[in-house]
Amino acid sequence: MTKFPNYTKTIFIDGQWLEAHNGNTLPVQNPATLETITEVSYGDEVEAEQAVRAASQAFRKWSAKTARERSQLLYAAYEKMLEHKEELASILTTEQGKPLKEARAEIDSAASYFLWYAEEANRLYGEIIPSSNKHKRLMVIPQPIGVVAAITPWNFPASMITRKLAPALAAGCTVVLKPAPETPLTAYQIVKILEEVGIPKGVVNLVTGDAVSIGQCWMNHPDVRLITFTGSTEVGRLLMKGSADHVKKLSLELGGHAPIIVFDDADLDLAAEMTLASKFRNCGQTCICANRVYVQKTIWDDFLEKLTEKVRRLSIDIGAKETADIGPLINEEAVQKVQRHLEDAVQKGASVIYGGKRWDGPYPGYFFEPTLLVNVTKEMRVMNEETFGPLLPLQPFEEEEEAIRQANDTPYGLAAYIFTDSIHRAYRVMEKLEYGIIGINDVFPAVAEAPFGGVKQSGLGKEGGKEGIFEFVELKYVSMGIR
Ligand code: ADP
Repeated sequence: MTKFPNYTKTIFIDGQWLEAHNGNTLPVQNPATLETITEVSYGDEVEAEQAVRAASQAFRKWSAKTARERSQLLYAAYEKMLEHKEELASILTTEQGKPLKEARAEIDSAASYFLWYAEEANRLYGEIIPSSNKHKRLMVIPQPIGVVAAITPWNFPASMITRKLAPALAAGCTVVLKPAPETPLTAYQIVKILEEVGIPKGVVNLVTGDAVSIGQCWMNHPDVRLITFTGSTEVGRLLMKGSADHVKKLSLELGGHAPIIVFDDADLDLAAEMTLASKFRNCGQTCICANRVYVQKTIWDDFLEKLTEKVRRLSIDIGAKETADIGPLINEEAVQKVQRHLEDAVQKGASVIYGGKRWDGPYPGYFFEPTLLVNVTKEMRVMNEETFGPLLPLQPFEEEEEAIRQANDTPYGLAAYIFTDSIHRAYRVMEKLEYGIIGINDVFPAVAEAPFGGVKQSGLGKEGGKEGIFEFVELKYVSMGIR
């Protein structure tokens, strides 16, 4: 087991690693073993304010650099991240719990945002608009928005940071970052990498500490022009309300309640394999995880049999074991939530066909068995609220329209998946699903080169793709009279 020294200086402001001014620290726990890994600095609004000041001062010079200069630094960060992949993956697994193979995949994915935005930095084009007046020339110039506050979650402690930092830096913005208290070590390592490749001081600042006071400071600070956040819809709403006074721009990746629809013309092995991967990856703690599966009645028995067989073969274990397929949940509250959803469903008539309780393996951590539920109805919490755990309800349907209606019957709109071998059905259903991301025979849509983001209460804006960098710019329109 990796044992870490105390990381008392985890706050990074204006190029300096600092302790919290009040001397406070926060323990970081391994969710599989419940060991305290280390303690990190626990700052508050004092550090949050200093970080904004540093980022504001650094903005003028950083935004004046050429796109090529910024691109080179991002490319160096990409290379360095991959160079340290094993070490980063091990740290990530230790504080977050996911199996090592998933942690390695996350580091690859996290690094790919540095690569993609190293490239996109050079392609942040403006526009010349054909004018209706021959004495005028009209143009649109993208300019960096200013200081960006990034607040990130623990479920993807590396890629949720780079997905925000890379486009922000590429566009010429400076950043203040607050990672989740559960996973500050991965954030620390990423900022260290940026420091090592030579990002100028003040351009990236890291504040580990109290979410509420740091969040308040950044919402109220006039210099923070954009808050980019990934996390719960509840906190997203708070940030929106709190940012109203300064009319800040917001980019929000919030909760989801992803449906999978399996049609009777689908490749059933593929559908079962992908359903398994979608639900149980990261122990169900992914905002685009399958939250409910609708299976066409004619294939219901076959599909259930295939899925159950695959679930049976999952190896529950501490993430650090190479053979682990499913690790612990992040904390006790996460286990309680799974239990609450399960009890509510069973009490309302659902049946557990696999799993259904805490895993009684050799570790004291937050493990829960992968669990399959049938006889579910719309009235159950699991069918409406994000469980964020390894609990999967399945429901049969008869007609395509019925499945689409049920899939859309939610205030969320992040990701939805369909399995079918008919191109007609695939296109028809895709168009009707009210979601920002659709997977057709695929449950891994999140890649650096494509725009990720939800509709309805799942968020605002896009991350990734050529669109992702536009969250971090203002479009300046120039109308020029000429003789
Ligand atoms: P989760 O419930 O999955 O932990 P949250 O939305 O609570 O999701 O957390 C996502 C991020 O938001 C974390 O970095 C967390 O510390 C931060 N956060 C939580 N509450 C607030 C708040 N009131 N203001 C600002 N940030 C917050």
